[in-house]
Amino acid sequence: MSGSTASTGAARLRGLGAAALAGVLACVGATASGGPRAAGPGGGARAEVSAAPRQPDLFDTVVIDAGHGGEDRGARGINGLLEKDLVLDVARRLARRLRARDLRVVLTRHDDRFVGLEERTSIANDARADLFVSIHANAARARRARGTETFFASLEASDESAQELAELENSSFRGERGATPAQDPLVAILGDLMANEYLRDSQEFARLAQVRLQSVDLARSRGVKQAPFVVLLGVQMPAALVEVGFLTNPDEESALKGSAHRDRIVEALDRAVVEFGRRYDARRGASRAASPGGP
Ligand SMILES: [Zn+2]
Repeated sequence: MSGSTASTGAARLRGLGAAALAGVLACVGATASGGPRAAGPGGGARAEVSAAPRQPDLFDTVVIDAGHGGEDRGARGINGLLEKDLVLDVARRLARRLRARDLRVVLTRHDDRFVGLEERTSIANDARADLFVSIHANAARARRARGTETFFASLEASDESAQELAELENSSFRGERGATPAQDPLVAILGDLMANEYLRDSQEFARLAQVRLQSVDLARSRGVKQAPFVVLLGVQMPAALVEVGFLTNPDEESALKGSAHRDRIVEALDRAVVEFGRRYDARRGASRAASPGGP
C-alpha cells in the first residue's frame, strides 16, 4: 500500500472517530505513522515496538477464530446443533493439530463467550499472526443446500448468497455499530487499506483450503468466494473464513455432530495451513530446515 493512501485513510478514520473500531483504528494509525510493527496512538495494550533486525519472518503463528459465542449463537441446526458450539470444537481440534506441528496458535475464544468482531481482529493483529482462519457453519432456507465454502474479504460480494451470508455473519457487528458493514465508510476505508497487501495471500489460502475440503466426505465444494466479512477486513494478515457445512441440511448436521467428520474437516484445514506456510516461507527465502546460525 502507498504511504499517502494510508495517511489519508487514517486521517479520514480519525475524523470519523468511531469508538467501536478503536482497536482497528490504532493499527491503521500505526501503519500510517511508522509501519505495521509500531504501536498505534491509544493502543496502550499493544505489544512493544521492536527495532531489532529480525530473521526472515517464518510462518509460525496462526490465529483460529471460532465464530459467535455466548448470546450470539450463530446458525442453529434443524436438530439443535448450534454453530457456536460446533465451530469452537472444530477450532480447538485444529489448534491441537497445528500446535503438534510446533506452530504457535492463538484462539480468539476458548469457551462459550461473546467476543466482538473488532476484538477478534485486535487479538489477531496483536499476535502478529501470519494467517487468520475464521471457522463458521452455514445456514440456508433451502434444506438441500450443503457443502463447504471458503471466503476471503472484499467489499463486494461475489454473489447474492455470499452477500446475505456476510450480513448474517456480521450481525453481531451491526448490533455494536448500528450500521451494516457494507455501508459503513470505516469498513470501506479499512478494506481499501488492507486489500492490496493481503489479498493475494488470502485468496491463495482460501483456494488451498477449499481444494482440501473438496476431498472431505459429504462436504461438496461450493468453491472460493468473496464477501465483506468485517472480521476479515480488520485483520492485517492473510485471512479467510471457512464455512464447514450447512446446519440446515439434516444429513450434514448429523455428520457434523460426529467426531469423525469434524476430524476430516480439521485434517483438511491442517493440510491447507501447512501448504500455505510452506509457500509463505518459500516466498520469503526462509526455510525451516535452514541452519539459524547463518554464514
Ligand atoms: Zn457464523
